[in-house]
Amino acid sequence: MDEKFLSRSREILTSMMDRGALTIPEITSSVGMSLPIVTEVINQLVKAGKLVELTGVEKPQAGRPPTLYKLNAEAGYTIGIELGRISSNCVVLDYSQKMIFEYHRKSILSKDNESIFLELEKLINHLLKEVGITKKQLLGIGISIPGIVQGETGTSQTYLKVENNLLLDHLEKRLGVRVRIEHDVKSMALGEIHYGAAQNVNNALYINYGWGLGIGIIMNGQLYYGNEGFAGEFGHIPLVPNGELCYCGKQGCLETISSGRAITKLVNDRLSAGASSMILKSKKMAEKVDPIDILKAANQGDQFAIEILEEAGKYLGIGIAILINLFNPGHIIIGGTISQVASYLLDSLKNNAMKHSIVQLNKNVIFEISDLKNNSGALGVARLTSIKYCCDI
Ligand SMILES: [Zn+2]
Repeated sequence: MDEKFLSRSREILTSMMDRGALTIPEITSSVGMSLPIVTEVINQLVKAGKLVELTGVEKPQAGRPPTLYKLNAEAGYTIGIELGRISSNCVVLDYSQKMIFEYHRKSILSKDNESIFLELEKLINHLLKEVGITKKQLLGIGISIPGIVQGETGTSQTYLKVENNLLLDHLEKRLGVRVRIEHDVKSMALGEIHYGAAQNVNNALYINYGWGLGIGIIMNGQLYYGNEGFAGEFGHIPLVPNGELCYCGKQGCLETISSGRAITKLVNDRLSAGASSMILKSKKMAEKVDPIDILKAANQGDQFAIEILEEAGKYLGIGIAILINLFNPGHIIIGGTISQVASYLLDSLKNNAMKHSIVQLNKNVIFEISDLKNNSGALGVARLTSIKYCCDI
């Protein structure tokens, strides 16, 4: 296949990923190519088994019903893996981009590089076995990673650092399959654009309230990357004068008072100082409490855990007020692990976001909790991978 044909095929296949079955005129208007070109590409894609024709679909108007085309679900599969700091979240998509399997296990990111690569190999074999497919049937594997990551060039400077930072090349050699990497929060925001609350939304901010605190900026329906691809480091805006030292080297970052990391530290500090909480029932004193323990306790009504979450939600709200003033978003979508206890967060977060932002900019903002749960990052990076490799199988 020549380059021009490949790029036209990719564009047509990509435009069909979010839209189900379409007629040739519908595809033509969505990609802006001429009817003869679209017809030719569609015929080739049907021949190659990537599209299927649906004939005999009845339409009310007289005459022969138009032929509809849709992605052939069995033409290939994509794995998406979010390497989170609290958990590892995996999905498998079929060629029509429907999620056919999900799998979650504890985080592997605190291990050394070699152990993480070994765990990744194990995870992939597990997923292939569970779904009943082989590596040859994969379009590729998408891996979402926190820290300083450039998805386009395939480099990661925080986790899984390898020689020349070229993590993508290293992963492809090691795993024996095509790979696409992406930053964790950008993957989550893409998950929301294609599968969640940001579908058909023009201006939105996705907030990952997890171990860290980052945002995905959606402008005119597209994810905004910034000049180097690093836009969205919301957790490191300075919010507390002379506050605690952040791991980034600055003092008083929002992340030092409102993030999974900060909440966990606060809980551990206060419990060591003698605070009482249900959390202690399931933990030995020497054991460190993790974010999941805190969320569980809050969901069981533990006052200590709830008060700490409310306090953190207040500061997140002040941070969000700054975002509202800067971006005038239509939607604010809150996801990430901590959003599992949204009922204890949302009120103080929203009140503070509204109180500290300008009324003309905040009056129409819709606050939403992501309903993709912990799948958004894996879904987003899987979709990126499908887009990149949909013609390559
Ligand atoms: Zn910081």
